[in-house]
This record gives sequence, structure tokens and C-alpha cells, in this order.
Amino acid sequence: MTNDIDRILYTEEQIYKRVKELAQEINDFFGNSPIVAVFVLKGSAFFASDLIRWLEMDVTMEFMSVSSYGLESVSSGKLSIKKDIDTDVAGKNVLIIEDIIDTGITLTTLKKLFQSRGAKTVKVVTMLSKPSRRLVEFEADFTGFEVPDAFVVGYGLDYADRYRNLPYIAALKRSVYEK
Ligand code: 5GP
Repeated sequence: MTNDIDRILYTEEQIYKRVKELAQEINDFFGNSPIVAVFVLKGSAFFASDLIRWLEMDVTMEFMSVSSYGLESVSSGKLSIKKDIDTDVAGKNVLIIEDIIDTGITLTTLKKLFQSRGAKTVKVVTMLSKPSRRLVEFEADFTGFEVPDAFVVGYGLDYADRYRNLPYIAALKRSVYEK
């Protein structure tokens, strides 16, 4: 598995430190207000579980699995929901926890969905962002690291469902995904 790695972008230690800092930013923002933490599966599973253990307000955990229909979903708001959350978010603070923002299409649409369900606030935290790849303008409220335009894996992120269990975040060799 490690033979397929081009280079390590963030080590376990760097991730640990940054996740704690992000949690502090989120604590400062929400104070004692309870939040619904939405884990966007599967990629954000490690990040989200590490992050929420540092949060100091009441947190409920919800799981969601989605895929977008590409650019058309931004205007239509159409999202393919493979697994939805189990709770009504009307009047609640929602924190969407994402692994990586690439084109921005998924998060733009997902955020709209929670707003349309009547959430009081919808904030987005992402472990990684690739700003150079945006097709729609979207900025997360809290971002762990900005990464270059490479395909990244590890710490929950996969390629063809592999590499999620790597403890660090790394760029995959081009030869692996351009086969
Ligand atoms: P977008 O922002 O383009 O709508 O989609 C974000 C989703 O694309 C992420 O949740 C992730 O599943 C996938 N994705 C985008 N870039 C990468 C990458 O470099 N590595 C991995 N593993 N997934 C990516």
C-alpha cells in the first residue's frame, strides 16, 4: 500500500495538532450552544470522530452519505442521498463535517439542503480544501489544510476504497489513478 504513495503531505502529529486547533475555533464560535455534528461518510469518519471529542458543547452525532449530480445539482439543489440523518434539524445548529472540498459542488448543495430543512445555522468544517479546483465559489467556515491539486488519500480518504487506514494524509502516485 505504501508503495503507491508519492509523498506525505501531513503527518499524524501535524493532523493531531491542527484538529485540536480547529476544535478550539469551533468552541469559540458556538460557545455553549448545542450542535448536530453531521459526519459526511465515509471519508470524514476519522477526522469527525477526532474533532468532536475536543468540542465542549452538547454534540449529537449524525451520519450521512451523499453524492452530487455534478454542476446541475448546484442550481437544482438535487443531491443523491444514499443515507440520510435520523433527526429533524429545524431550529438547530448544524455542523457539517467534510473530508475534502474539491469543486465545491457537494457542499454547496448539502448546505442548501440543511438550510431548506430549517436549521438555525449551518456551518461547514473541512479537513482539507483544494481551492485551485473550485467550479463553484465555496468556502468552508473552518478549514484544516489547503492542499495542492493532487489526489490525496489516508486518514479516512480513499481511492477505490483503499488507503483509508493510512494514519497520515498523502498524495497518491499519478500512475495509480491514471492506469
Ligand atoms: P466536490 O467538492 O468536488 O463536490 O467533492 C468533494 C468530494 O470529492 C469529497 O468528499 C471526496 O469524496 C472527493 N474528492 C475530491 N478530491 C479528492 C481527493 O483528492 N482524494 C479523495 N480521496 N477524494 C477526493
